[in-house]
Amino acid sequence: MMNDVEQKEKLRQHFARRVTTQARVVLDTWQKLREKPDELPTFRTHLSSAAEKLVRYAGRFDMDRHAQAGQLLIDTLAHLPEATEMTQEQAETIQTAMDELGESTLRRSDQEAESAPTTFRRTPVYVALSNGELGSRLIKQLEFFGFRASAFATPQELMSACGLHKPETILMDIDFGGEKNEGIATVEKLQERHDTPIPVVFTSDEDGTIETRLRASRCGGEEFFYPAVDPGQLIEKIETYTHGNSVDPYKVLVLDDSRAQAKYMETVLKRAGMNACIITDPMEIIDALESFGPEIIILDMYMPGCTGMEIARVIRQQDRFHSVPIIYLSAEDDVNKQLHAMSLGGDDFLTKPVDPKHLVATIHNRGRRARSLLALMIRDSLTGLFNHTHTLYLLDQEIIKAGQKEQPLCFAMLDLDCFKQVNDTFGHPIGDRVLRSLSMFLKQRLRKSDHIGRYGGEEFAIILPDTEEPDACAVLNEIRERFAELLQPASNREFNVTFSAGIARWNGEPAQELCQRADRALYEAKAAGRNCIIGRID
Ligand code: GH3
Ligand code: MG
Ligand code: MG
Repeated sequence: MMNDVEQKEKLRQHFARRVTTQARVVLDTWQKLREKPDELPTFRTHLSSAAEKLVRYAGRFDMDRHAQAGQLLIDTLAHLPEATEMTQEQAETIQTAMDELGESTLRRSDQEAESAPTTFRRTPVYVALSNGELGSRLIKQLEFFGFRASAFATPQELMSACGLHKPETILMDIDFGGEKNEGIATVEKLQERHDTPIPVVFTSDEDGTIETRLRASRCGGEEFFYPAVDPGQLIEKIETYTHGNSVDPYKVLVLDDSRAQAKYMETVLKRAGMNACIITDPMEIIDALESFGPEIIILDMYMPGCTGMEIARVIRQQDRFHSVPIIYLSAEDDVNKQLHAMSLGGDDFLTKPVDPKHLVATIHNRGRRARSLLALMIRDSLTGLFNHTHTLYLLDQEIIKAGQKEQPLCFAMLDLDCFKQVNDTFGHPIGDRVLRSLSMFLKQRLRKSDHIGRYGGEEFAIILPDTEEPDACAVLNEIRERFAELLQPASNREFNVTFSAGIARWNGEPAQELCQRADRALYEAKAAGRNCIIGRID
């Protein structure tokens, strides 16, 4: 049973979601308005009423940041003269309110206030291209993917913007500013100001020589596009830099019977930004494995009742934890005993007293390797989403949880419409890029607690825990509409792609039947003309 506090918290989270959903509506309306400035009068009405609703919700649920941003928006809109263009200043005020909203909303961790710290995309992408038209096309694409992007007209403007706010990435024409290699020179100057260099993507229409490439690479050039920028490829690159920078904290389980030692480890690990779970009783290990799901385990060698090596064997007997790195910790400095411990399924050995730096470095190395091995096993290499097998495993898990917690659960199958034609018209590599763009899109727009898998070729599966069928339909419909608007870049033109989806609400059945029902619903959606979603309760 939930106690009062838990129940309140759950309610609060539920309502917080409502506020953030409404904030998304406001953001999307603004996006549309920016694409079609001629329709200001219509959108303005939409925008005002969306903002009013937002302020109302946010006020009711004590979400001050949203309320303030919404109010700023309402005030600015109220001062816009009828049916004319906005002034630069008005547009900027609105943009400020939107940025504020975006920051507090656009991530999908809305409802997981209690979970590990998540990184937000606060920092912008700066675009410094000589070709202004290409620049604005790119910015539009970037914004679709949840990036904040700004374009600059001169090196001076770019320099001063970087002074105010260090960007996540800069996209830079090597000749930006007009002079030969002026763009590279600007970056060289910029990087001097920072301890860690800003990743830069360089582009050049004319100069692909080794001298220029070297100079670009030496000042932080991660990429060099020559002779032309491919917008699709570019967005993928930027996505990798920005994700590469934000490693989720490692989950480390420590078992040490000495309370003082355990506490010390906890402090060191937390200070290093890790997510630590500490136990002092070996008999709690099974529970801790289950509930915490560690990525790395640190075991004390000698404890009353059993040894770390015995515990390691028990851990290794469980399939799920077969490849989790185990690090032993002890005052033992007898090399033979350490070797013996390693032969029993340990990966590393640290001698007490442990040097915090050494501990953290060891965990990072082990953790990184474990994650990439795990990714090979459970992820699809094209999209980075969970593969078919792991998606079904997660579905089984979620069904068990939903049963225990008596919560609803929905399963969705998505399939791209007429995708064969996309391949036939634009080629397989462009088709692959569409698959990746949909996967990025889903990752950005769904909650972190939803699981997204690549089910087959151009089929995706989504598990939505704690979600009723109408909500699942609403969320996916929103995504469907936005995705259909997304311009897919090909070499010399852009095109649109749509998908259809079938959703089934779990009704107590085994996973396989749930999948079949979702698949049937998908088939119906296709038969109904595609680009639509059909939900089934039973
Ligand atoms: P429908 O709307 O009925 O789903 O039509 P469709 O053309 O999408 O369906 P169909 O099953 O006839 O074709 C699926 C196509 O998806 C065929 C295949 O070339 C393409 N496809 C599957 N996997 C991949 C992939 O990994 N990359 C690319 N580029 N294409 C893929
Ligand atoms: Mg298919
Ligand atoms: Mg298809």
